[in-house]
Amino acid sequence: MELHELTIAEARRLLAKREISARELTAAHLSRIEALDPGIGAFLTVTAEEALAAADASDQRLAAGRAGPLEGIPLAVKDVLCTRGVRTSCGSRILENFVPPYDATAVARLRQAGAVLLGKLNMDEFAMGSSTENSAFRVTRNPWDPDRTPGGSSGGSAAAVAARLCLGALGSDTGGSIRQPASHCGVVGLKPTYGRVSRYGLVAFASSLDQVGPFGRRVEDAALLLEAIAGHDPADSTSAREPVPAFAAGLEKGIQGLKIGIPAEYRAAEGLDPEVGRAVEEAVSDLARRGAQPVEISLPHMRYAVAVYYVIAPAEASSNLARYDGVKYGRRAQDEAELLSMYRKTRGRHFGPEVRRRIVIGTYCLSAGYYDAYYGKASQVRSLIVRDFAEAFRRCDAIACPTAPTPAFRLGEKTADPLTLYLADIFTIPANLAGIPAVSVPCAFSSAGLPIGLQLMGKAFDEETILRLAAALEEERGLFRRRPG
Ligand code: GLN
Repeated sequence: MELHELTIAEARRLLAKREISARELTAAHLSRIEALDPGIGAFLTVTAEEALAAADASDQRLAAGRAGPLEGIPLAVKDVLCTRGVRTSCGSRILENFVPPYDATAVARLRQAGAVLLGKLNMDEFAMGSSTENSAFRVTRNPWDPDRTPGGSSGGSAAAVAARLCLGALGSDTGGSIRQPASHCGVVGLKPTYGRVSRYGLVAFASSLDQVGPFGRRVEDAALLLEAIAGHDPADSTSAREPVPAFAAGLEKGIQGLKIGIPAEYRAAEGLDPEVGRAVEEAVSDLARRGAQPVEISLPHMRYAVAVYYVIAPAEASSNLARYDGVKYGRRAQDEAELLSMYRKTRGRHFGPEVRRRIVIGTYCLSAGYYDAYYGKASQVRSLIVRDFAEAFRRCDAIACPTAPTPAFRLGEKTADPLTLYLADIFTIPANLAGIPAVSVPCAFSSAGLPIGLQLMGKAFDEETILRLAAALEEERGLFRRRPG
């Protein structure tokens, strides 16, 4: 048996029966990371010793019959989530040496559930980007084709799960950063409803859009991880008091009679690869064959979503990132005698070009005299997008469309013009603006052998329905049997 091929659900069973130990499962993944990650670049930090110690503690709890729901499962987390005593860089030079004194709530909940954390995963600097090429530290390659990006900003998370370097991972999603890399790497990635998972200890990019969410190779794995991290947290006032359903058990319910809305607008989207369009149509027919019912819907303001997002997200980022001034966190420009020039040098030198661009755009949009025209206007259009979804969900239980307009692109292909990268966020951004849950599940492979994801969006706090649909498609297609070379 190849331990790294186990799903989380399978590993749980074998661990519970004590047919495998947490230590051997962890050691198998650590040696895979050592052997393969130099060629992939998913990890920024590997915490091998801590992981083995945690695995031993898991084995003891398993022996004593005190196992948690993720006891002994080797996972890894995006470097945007604070980990106590372990460097949390956010992919940025400015936090290169930042070691948080506490765990993010999502991380703490994984530990409480018994998970073994293998390390921290690469990402675009401060989660700004769609290819992980904005990381200040390293390139991450797509396990399906090393000349292509894994997507981003949670590219390290998606690549690590696809390459079997861990059984599952956490990422963050502000405008698609979980779903788009999941789509490009052929794994499952879910952005929960805003408020479903605590943001405490998630380094903020755009606070009204950010959510923490899971990656797995199977829908059930993503559901198990979501169960572990979801739920109210007094440390995050925006986390909801909604009860957390048993998402994995809910997958059994099937999809008979569920109405799937197909937004007419997506077919007209600029830059939609015909292969992706076809894959989505076929996926919807598959779901229909299993008893779901497709209905045409309309999201008339979807075409403004990218423009709205690229005002609101930079505006919030410009405010959130003001705290990195060389005084309290991370690196400081050393040679400055005067405060203002110290700020300027610290921020000018240690933030990368994309982060600086967003800070400048965001500051401009919030300036006196421009606020109404940009931030105010964007907020109004955001309300119209929210209303579009409310209207659409009167007629359907979930909405299906592509996750990304194309399969993974080549490294370096879109670095020259950030706008081309922004435009590719067209299908993922609306769910963040509306705060609704959305999942990307593999639905096909392109003629070049690259994974293509289907996105399913749900009503607020109804992750269960989109997970059920994703599981039905997964079963119908059986694509999880394919592995990257
Ligand atoms: N690609 C989008 C951006 O660059 C989304 C990133 C994210 O979800 N963190 O902002």
